[in-house]
Amino acid sequence: MDILIHACCAICLLEPARLLRAEGHTLQVAWLNPNIQPHEEHDRRLNALLTVTELLELPLTRLPELTYEPPTETLSVDRCAYCYRLRLLPIARLAKQLGMAFTTTLLYSKYQRHDVVRRVAEEIAANLDVPFFYQNWRPRFNQGQSRARQLQIYRQRYCGCEASLKLRNGRH
Ligand code: SF4
Repeated sequence: MDILIHACCAICLLEPARLLRAEGHTLQVAWLNPNIQPHEEHDRRLNALLTVTELLELPLTRLPELTYEPPTETLSVDRCAYCYRLRLLPIARLAKQLGMAFTTTLLYSKYQRHDVVRRVAEEIAANLDVPFFYQNWRPRFNQGQSRARQLQIYRQRYCGCEASLKLRNGRH
């Protein structure tokens, strides 16, 4: 299957990309993460992704940036669902244009709201009539983290938005 994979960051791409390729899928990577604050941190994660996609020889598309305006100040299911939808909707639209399925590395991180990511992606897939490729990569979380350490890939300590930065030890 041809799959457009949304990368939330470089480290979260490593293990899903390896597994998908081992299963014989063809991959393209897409970057759209306007939730990452401040701007310097956004660019730090993007630069790490550029390093990884070059290393893995994966094509990377950067989607036009969007404004991130969450519905609540504090972290909540609604806020994260908004954040997932903001990113995955344009990714799914691009996948449809390219005749590909879409997925996201958010399904790899054990710090994300996995069921919410899945629900949001499935809703988008149904609305746009584009295939969503679901796989639970969380059981491989430690392997991906070890590989990131070996490769000395930048590893962030918070999810992305200002609220998660304040929390620091919250989801990422
Ligand atoms: S915690 Fe993460 S997923 Fe939730 S709103 Fe903030 S950046 Fe988005």
